[in-house]
Amino acid sequence: MKIATYWHAGSRQVGRLSADGGSVTPMVLSEQDKHGGALSLIERMAAGLPPPTDDGPAVPLASVRLDAPLPRPRRNIFCVGKNYHAHAREFARSGFDSSAGKPGDDIPSDPIIFSKVPESVIAPGAAIRIPVGVSEAVDYEAELTIVIGRGGRGISKAQAMEHVWGYTIVNDVTARDWQQRHQQWLIGKSFDTFCPMGPWLVTADEFDGGDTRIRCWVNDELRQDARTTDLIFDIPTLIAAISAGITLYPGDLIATGTPVGVGIGFKPPKYLKAGDSVRIEVDGIGVLENPVENS
Ligand code: MG
Repeated sequence: MKIATYWHAGSRQVGRLSADGGSVTPMVLSEQDKHGGALSLIERMAAGLPPPTDDGPAVPLASVRLDAPLPRPRRNIFCVGKNYHAHAREFARSGFDSSAGKPGDDIPSDPIIFSKVPESVIAPGAAIRIPVGVSEAVDYEAELTIVIGRGGRGISKAQAMEHVWGYTIVNDVTARDWQQRHQQWLIGKSFDTFCPMGPWLVTADEFDGGDTRIRCWVNDELRQDARTTDLIFDIPTLIAAISAGITLYPGDLIATGTPVGVGIGFKPPKYLKAGDSVRIEVDGIGVLENPVENS
């Protein structure tokens, strides 16, 4: 099942995509619940209840404006740094890696977890805004993102997949100059508009996050092309690490890291600029595309 949050006839709706992806059927949710996008649906299903029933006829997808599936997550988005082998080496070589103290630190021994503030989330098609005069080094990071269903603390690797409700795509947009200068990554990862999310959610029963292809184009140039089988820390390991001391809740998001091919991996670096378009495709989920503008 694919679940979209979208705007139609002036209101935010949550609905189920048709099998062919051509239409979306709204679901019965309160106005307050719709305001939170798919969160209340995830909470309901995580509690073992069926998804809400249909609320009216299907409408063509082309007639709606997609929103981020969780337009304002309940708290920060958990993110994983340096979680693909080839990207970890690329990042170490770039000189921007303030977490690597000495040679050999490029492949981490334990997951590096940071976060992005919820207010950085934007919808598919919304502009990534480069704050002129603030950052000169804005980069893209295509990432498969886990959506937690049933919460918990101390979740074992063996049981971790039972806590995955589904998946979406996040572009972990990053101000590299701020990431480097401030060492702790939150500030350079959390600028306004730096978390494009979507285009919708896919439930775990119809998608294998452990083996899928993730690609990213800037304009027409393919920059990233990898499979999640190259992850250093797989999905169960990430859930076990984060939940060891932090209780996870339904709707929590874990962006699993980005593959090789980010802008700082090129010499000279290929940063985003106004007029660019970043297009991320994850096989089995769909396409998340956002233009880039100055602000
Ligand atoms: Mg990232």
